[in-house]
Amino acid sequence: MTGPADRRWAWTEVDLEAVAHNVVTLKALTRPGTLFMAVVKADGYGHGASEVAQAALAAGADRLGVATVDEGIRLRRAGITAPVHLLSEPPVSSVGSLVRYGLRPSLYSAEFAGALSHAGVAAGSAVPFHLKVNTGMNRIGVDWTDAAAFAETLRDLPGIALEGVFTHFATADVPGDWDFERQVERFATAVAGMRERGIDPGIVHAANSPATILHPATHLDMVRCGIALYGLHPCEATRGVIDLHPAMAVKARVSQVRRVPMGEGVSYGLTWRAASPTTVATLPLGYADGVRRGLSGVMRVLLGGVECRQVGRVCMDQLMVEVPRGLDVSEGDEAVLVGVQGDRTLTIDEQAECLGTINYELVCGYGARLSRAHLPAKVL
Ligand SMILES: *Cc1c(COP(=O)(O)O)cnc(C)c1O
Repeated sequence: MTGPADRRWAWTEVDLEAVAHNVVTLKALTRPGTLFMAVVKADGYGHGASEVAQAALAAGADRLGVATVDEGIRLRRAGITAPVHLLSEPPVSSVGSLVRYGLRPSLYSAEFAGALSHAGVAAGSAVPFHLKVNTGMNRIGVDWTDAAAFAETLRDLPGIALEGVFTHFATADVPGDWDFERQVERFATAVAGMRERGIDPGIVHAANSPATILHPATHLDMVRCGIALYGLHPCEATRGVIDLHPAMAVKARVSQVRRVPMGEGVSYGLTWRAASPTTVATLPLGYADGVRRGLSGVMRVLLGGVECRQVGRVCMDQLMVEVPRGLDVSEGDEAVLVGVQGDRTLTIDEQAECLGTINYELVCGYGARLSRAHLPAKVL
């Protein structure tokens, strides 16, 4: 028997017990009865969508959120039967697949509503959908001023059924933000407008991870958590508020060790040169695996429980690490790029900080090519 770890000495480890802990901890912030959507788009933010989905559902999540029809189909093919939401409106040409796989689309255009209605009638059942309201993000959705009237036009369409109404915040991660408050008010106005017209909005939802953690008033009927599910903080403000466990570690084994003579350079451009004879270890992963090239020469790697400097440019499939004097490193030794080794921890957030980006982007990147080992959650 061989597995991915035999074929390649670089992988991510995803701790599903951490995912379960995060679901339970996030749910504890909400009132009993509040639905919990685990957002597993982009292959579970690079953590493996079906494994994360199953762990989240077992830990108490009620629904799943994805970005694309194909992401939804993959969950169904993995045997997942929980409600799966598409967080934006897919192309009209996808309605057949939506109905076949029982996916719940977001809806905000008359064209899509018409096509979905036809597909629902043909299938002989009413397809549930969620109406997306734009309250200020100005990305997708029907504008909040038009939402109630639009919902009224949908009421008479056969083959579709309004199951919920939602919006998405642009600044939930900014404490005391006025634009956030304005989005909350606009959403409330849109929902009230529907009720005035005798339309039951169903499941009303708005909160992403930062709103779930920082703004209980926005929990409404359901919260939609992505980044926090994976144990990462959406912003500084949430750090003191909730204890999240990061689920992803990035690991590799040393593929070669060499002595680099004084004055010789390492990697493309020879941008780093040995000031004295230096032991350098090669790791078989690179920017095609999500180790961003911008981390060249600034990132750290744990070897033998010691924080080592990465040196030279990060290549597509390899990177090099300076082995500190006195540390004994051999081919096959485990290296940690993100995660814990001995008493040291390297975080996604430190890398994001170095790059001037967000943890969201980096975990998605680590999902691109590395194989994943999932550590199971405890059976409750
Ligand atoms: C991605 C997404 C979420 C999850 O956001 P996080 O900040 O990762 O919690 C919630 N709602 C919608 C509509 C999204 O697109």
